[in-house]
Amino acid sequence: MAYIIEAEKCTACAACVDTCPSGAISAAEGGSHYIIDPEKCVDCAACESGCPSTAISAGA
Ligand code: SF4
Ligand code: SF4
Repeated sequence: MAYIIEAEKCTACAACVDTCPSGAISAAEGGSHYIIDPEKCVDCAACESGCPSTAISAGA
């Protein structure tokens, strides 16, 4: 499992990037939103509460 960012809610503010201890979060192609690399995400939840748009949640 990995955390996910809802593209429709993400405003590309980048606040989550520095909260991730595993460097799993980066800008998507084009930069309109951010994405979480499921291969790098360790499910720590550190990014979730820091998102002003509540775009981050635990994956299904
Ligand atoms: S849950 Fe943790 S490891 Fe996964 S993207 Fe968020 S901060 Fe990074
Ligand atoms: S903190 Fe939330 S709105 Fe900002 S880039 Fe990350 S997922 Fe997108």
